[in-house]
Amino acid sequence: MTDTTDWRTIADTYGTPAYIYDGGLLEGRIADTRRALHPALDIFFSLKSNPNPAVLALLHAGGAKAEVCSLAELRIARSVGVAVDDIIFLGPGKSAAELTACVREGIYAVVCESLQELDRLDAVAAEHGVRQRVMLRVNPAFSVSGSRLTMGGKPRQFGIDEEVVLGETGLAGRHPHLDIAGVHVYSGTRILDADVVVKNTEYTLDLAERVAAKLGISLDVVDFGGGLGVPYFDGEHELDLEALALALNPLLDKFRAAHPTTRLIMESGRYLTADAGTYLMEVRYTKESMGEPFAVTDGGTHHHMAAVGIGSFVKRNFPIDLLGRDATGEGRRPWTITGPLCTPNDTVGKKVDLPELRPGDLLGVRRSGAYGPSASPVLFLSHGHPAEVLLTGEGSRLLRARDTTDDLLAPYLSADDTTTN
Ligand SMILES: *Cc1c(COP(=O)(O)O)cnc(C)c1O
Repeated sequence: MTDTTDWRTIADTYGTPAYIYDGGLLEGRIADTRRALHPALDIFFSLKSNPNPAVLALLHAGGAKAEVCSLAELRIARSVGVAVDDIIFLGPGKSAAELTACVREGIYAVVCESLQELDRLDAVAAEHGVRQRVMLRVNPAFSVSGSRLTMGGKPRQFGIDEEVVLGETGLAGRHPHLDIAGVHVYSGTRILDADVVVKNTEYTLDLAERVAAKLGISLDVVDFGGGLGVPYFDGEHELDLEALALALNPLLDKFRAAHPTTRLIMESGRYLTADAGTYLMEVRYTKESMGEPFAVTDGGTHHHMAAVGIGSFVKRNFPIDLLGRDATGEGRRPWTITGPLCTPNDTVGKKVDLPELRPGDLLGVRRSGAYGPSASPVLFLSHGHPAEVLLTGEGSRLLRARDTTDDLLAPYLSADDTTTN
């Protein structure tokens, strides 16, 4: 795919570093996903992967619903017009304020992650004189390998163990203000093999039937997670959406034949947004150290923790391109791309094959639309949040201003006003 974006103009207009989202790619991804997968399947966008309201608005226009995990995410979903019936709230440690907001708004379902949380939510619903629909998040006893981060088959803070749920009797009766309507399982993330998604789904649908039978509830909803991945590193391949559809859709058909009114939910964050995002940085200085070339840029770890891969055993590079000038035919060298932070961890790419770099060059970290600034330590060294920009067919638009020094200092200054003595 040739890149026709005018990166130089974008950099001049909005400054760097900045996250640039391609609206066309966002629209295309949700449209492709919905077209390929079963029409009865609801796709809930996980705001955790990218909470920018404009990103959600585009995905929502394409049919995505909202999976939220905080008061702010809930408000973002409501503010872009997601109907309460299309919002679920999830998370292992929901506060009383969060449970209250769910009940007040009347969202479709709270995904309950512990027996104590059920008790607490029941009390909140009672207080408000309503019944709240609930999905039980189950920590499955099994896991399929092939996910980069497997959730099931291990002790976890998420959900209620499968054996515990299946051993419970009278759960519905003990919670008169809750409508225990279904089961939620999230088995892993960054899955690139269609087969693994299908196996996980098969297991979850079966588990949901067993839980419903055991608890004596009608199975109104099953949320089988998802975890669809995108390739970041050499040797990884794209998830084959058509192959996934070919295996998953008949499975859902079969389930629907037995449960024609059960709502089917898949959650997705990364798959919907990652490819649409580029983290745009400008080279400030170039230098050599012991014979190796370094480009020190204005962007780094504080905005893009994922690219740095802290915690991984081997540092692997996200795709990084020189943008905004044609360097075809120029000699290439393995450049290490670093940022402004005073820590050796601030390395965005190690020995990346790139043309001769010079100050003012633009570099883009690709596939950066998911788990970017909101999943990074943006306050480290007090540089703050980068700008976020949307590219549309008509032009470009600022979605989020970068933090100014005043923005960064304001919370310290306002804390002074609240001193008690
Ligand atoms: C993080 C998370 C998601 C989104 O995961 P992706 O890999 O970004 O699709 C969905 N559901 C749950 C429960 C999660 O914790």
